[in-house]
Amino acid sequence: MIAAKKELILRELEAGTGAAIAVSVDNSGLRSGLRIWFADLDDKHGPVAELRPFGLKGHRVSLSFGNFSGEVIGQIRHASPEDVQLARALVASIRTDIEIEVPGQGLSEWHVANGAFLMTAKIRELELPNEDAAIISTCREVIVPIMAAMAELIGYDVIEVPVDDAAPAFEGAISPSVVLRRERNPRNRLLCIRIHGEKCAACGLEPRLVYGNAGLIIEVHHLEPVSSLAKPKAYDPRTDLVPLCPNCHRAIHTRRPIPFNIDEIRELMGGCNG
Ligand SMILES: [Zn+2]
Ligand SMILES: [Zn+2]
Repeated sequence: MIAAKKELILRELEAGTGAAIAVSVDNSGLRSGLRIWFADLDDKHGPVAELRPFGLKGHRVSLSFGNFSGEVIGQIRHASPEDVQLARALVASIRTDIEIEVPGQGLSEWHVANGAFLMTAKIRELELPNEDAAIISTCREVIVPIMAAMAELIGYDVIEVPVDDAAPAFEGAISPSVVLRRERNPRNRLLCIRIHGEKCAACGLEPRLVYGNAGLIIEVHHLEPVSSLAKPKAYDPRTDLVPLCPNCHRAIHTRRPIPFNIDEIRELMGGCNG
């Protein structure tokens, strides 16, 4: 695999997981493959994704843990219900023709209980499974969301927002710092893009089409952080997040504490044109 392609894979993995990633390429003979892990944990103290040929026309991806992963698994077992929900949603966003298995567990409620955890994915019927294009596509489609799910469970970073707004302005509202955390979480962004694409939900701009490689700038907006109900409804990244271009996102948040909704911002834009 040429170096430029490896760089591309690394960039997509790091953007999607929000963590530093290490990749090793095994080019020995026909059974070439890839190993991917979190750089700060190395490949012994955390999860490792491996891509190998599967039959003549397929790939098999496996996610397992290094021999000294006890500490990180302890961390994963303390992941919040929201982190677990997002991790499962990331794995569920993988194309349905790709066969995902977690031996001994159902796919809707998989969890990492110990170091024997294994998740596998089989990708079949590839035209040219040894070509870079096929390997990149398997990385993008399978390894990025699985590693992002692991990053979410481990609890990589996400920004810390100053907590001066612990009390939401309205009953049923969630605090602005929670909204900001969700909007800036790279795994939420990844899931939002995988589900809705990279087209701005307000103006229709698709930055990647306009700016090429400099266009990975679509942002994630959390819809309706203020609920009219007395009880806040459960957060669902699949329905509560939309992609917005940076301009529309800025514009929507000019109204506080309740941002404009998508229809209102469209109406304002229409006003400019007329
Ligand atoms: Zn826009
Ligand atoms: Zn927003």
